[in-house]
Amino acid sequence: MSASPSEVDAALAAVTAASRVCSAAQGRLAAGDTLTKSDDSPVTVADFASQAVVCAELGEALGEVLMIGEEDADDLRADTDSELLAAVTGLVRGQRERASHLNVFEWIAKGTSADRTASLGRYWTLDPIDGTKGFLRGDQYAVALGLIDNGEVILGVLGCPNLLNPDGSRGAIFAAVEGSCKAFYGGLTDPVEIAVAPPATVGEAKFCESVESGHSDQSQSQQVAELLGISSEPLRIDSQCKYGAVARGDASIYLRLPTRSEYREKIWDHAAGKFIVEQAGGRVTDVTGVPLDFAHGARLEDNSGVVATSGTIHDDVIAAVGQVLGV
Ligand code: AMP
Ligand code: MG
Repeated sequence: MSASPSEVDAALAAVTAASRVCSAAQGRLAAGDTLTKSDDSPVTVADFASQAVVCAELGEALGEVLMIGEEDADDLRADTDSELLAAVTGLVRGQRERASHLNVFEWIAKGTSADRTASLGRYWTLDPIDGTKGFLRGDQYAVALGLIDNGEVILGVLGCPNLLNPDGSRGAIFAAVEGSCKAFYGGLTDPVEIAVAPPATVGEAKFCESVESGHSDQSQSQQVAELLGISSEPLRIDSQCKYGAVARGDASIYLRLPTRSEYREKIWDHAAGKFIVEQAGGRVTDVTGVPLDFAHGARLEDNSGVVATSGTIHDDVIAAVGQVLGV
């Protein structure tokens, strides 16, 4: 099953609108605009506003859709009074002038319309701001939207509003459907087809990883790099911008090495990005070389960590990862 043209158009429009919301908000949030969720991770009014805008766009274009989004409208209600919702609505109105508080709350709530533990038919998954810590630091972040059908990703759109492009401009949207991966620089016209850039030898590969050492083991990735003969410094980037970097050849390896054995990756942190790298000609597996399995609801229950590469070097990278991690 592939994504329909109307699903592709809706996803591009949704990610574009949400990226505008996030760009407008970055660096301009007030002290009370950030909450800490029960898992200790930060969430901002911009995360909620981005999820509202994506769900509103998809709902208008496609009717009712199932969505596993990162944010839970109940967090908004539980932690606050209407002041927080008012701040979210203020951001949403930058894209949807007539949005009411109730509209905004209901759009965010649509983000949890799918059963988060079941294997479903066709559903969307959204990280409204992937890399919230990067967003708050003024660095990289992404709006990540994927469409999954029977456990297979069939569409990935990644908005990277802050990413520096080869031509010196800032801001990219990556979009992949079966057989094609495109980047849009500066608007939804004139996309360029992108492809991975395999290095001549694995030792010449550039690798990227999280800025946050709590999200990926940086000392083990250093050992993997040494084993592979890679001497260049890692490119540390927040969010799924790392997948975009591999897909268009800025880097050829993305290592996400577990910092805790029991941690399971969330589907919204990988669906769009992994499909973008694959359709650009690369490979994506977990740290043992097993494909990522999206058939278990919100989490990648049967996978540990992630390794994405430009393809030809994948087996070498997995062998080195296996040696360092002892898996
Ligand atoms: P990154 O910007 O690539 O470091 O990834 C950001 C994402 O890391 C967030 O969206 C979280 O869902 C996710 N995350 C949080 N804790 C962990 C962890 N212990 N291991 C891996 N990923 C995590
Ligand atoms: Mg995320």
